[in-house]
Amino acid sequence: MKQSRSRLKIIAAVLFFPLRSHLARLGINYDLSAITNDYYREKFDSIPAAQKAVILPHCLIGDKCPARFSKGEGIVCSKCRKCACGEIRVLAEEQGWQFYISPSTGFTKRLVQRKAIRAAVGAACTFEIEKGIRSTPVGTKGVHLQQEKVIPQMILTARYDCVNNEIDWEQLKRIIRG
Ligand code: SF4
Repeated sequence: MKQSRSRLKIIAAVLFFPLRSHLARLGINYDLSAITNDYYREKFDSIPAAQKAVILPHCLIGDKCPARFSKGEGIVCSKCRKCACGEIRVLAEEQGWQFYISPSTGFTKRLVQRKAIRAAVGAACTFEIEKGIRSTPVGTKGVHLQQEKVIPQMILTARYDCVNNEIDWEQLKRIIRG
């Protein structure tokens, strides 16, 4: 019963996300990230560490980021600590997880396939999430990225902005530490 309630909750949360501003005017607000993370957490935890990844969007990197770009790996963070991504890379690697900074959604989809990622913590703005919901099937068994189903944990970015964006870094650390 609890399982079907949670399933209905996440289906409704994803389905109604594009209508969130209309719902907010009616006094209905919900946190898509909290509902998603809660629903998928148990399954996420069951995936072996080596098949888990933190995949951050490029909007979070520092202004003077010295990282090089690799076609296969994306933006390769050198842990210079000019932004918080370096600390997250260290934490993810301590857990045995993979870590990437992706330049685009298309890159992320290809990365997931190439690196055999089965569970990922990602961050995105509401615009990207809405676009993703339209183009990427999200089911109760995960998010369908290419042929793969990936078990998600997610964080919303502070705003819709491709530079100098922010997330709740402490929330991300809590997700990684489990
Ligand atoms: S910590 Fe990594 S992502 Fe951040 S500025 Fe340094 S190299 Fe770039």
